[in-house]
Amino acid sequence: MKHEEIDLSKRSFMKIAATLGATAALCPLSSLMLPDSALAEPMVPLRLFNPHTGETYSVELFSGSQWNKSGLLVCDWMMRDWRQKQVVNCDRKLYAALYVIQRKFNVSSPIAINSGFRSNATNRMLRGNSIARNGGRVTAESPAVNSQHLYAKAVDFSIPGVPVPVVSRYVKSLNIGGLGVYSTFTHMDTGRIRQWGRPI
Ligand SMILES: [Zn+2]
Repeated sequence: MKHEEIDLSKRSFMKIAATLGATAALCPLSSLMLPDSALAEPMVPLRLFNPHTGETYSVELFSGSQWNKSGLLVCDWMMRDWRQKQVVNCDRKLYAALYVIQRKFNVSSPIAINSGFRSNATNRMLRGNSIARNGGRVTAESPAVNSQHLYAKAVDFSIPGVPVPVVSRYVKSLNIGGLGVYSTFTHMDTGRIRQWGRPI
């Protein structure tokens, strides 16, 4: 996967978005291993909210049967490491899955993205904070040294109004990869199938 770092001023983001706007990459919808019904017409925008930065975007993720490149770019922006000002191309399967999850629960509020891509520095900091909060102990909820967030293959998110266990059970049914169940959010990644955290 390409880990492209893009300078993060909003102006440069808009410039990149404008450049890529007309170009659509092939969308391997059939290879997403997600239920066909979830991708049925009509397509709706994916709505994302970043509680750390207060940003909200409505994203057209697909253009017909293809990915909408500028939509992907907005998703990457919302998944960026805002602490270290780094944005990379995240695993598109996460976005497709968020789209499917949004359709499943059909809520009007946007999906809250608590954490997406993490640089090494941010992951180390979050892990250190978590261990410090737990009196120096590593717990199941401490960010992993080799977290999938480092590879832009993980997202921590919540759906307003839908309890975490309910969202987590649905994520599990999608068989995407890793599932972590926390008190206020669900961790979903595209690594190998595994589960940790609270019971669901
Ligand atoms: Zn996570």
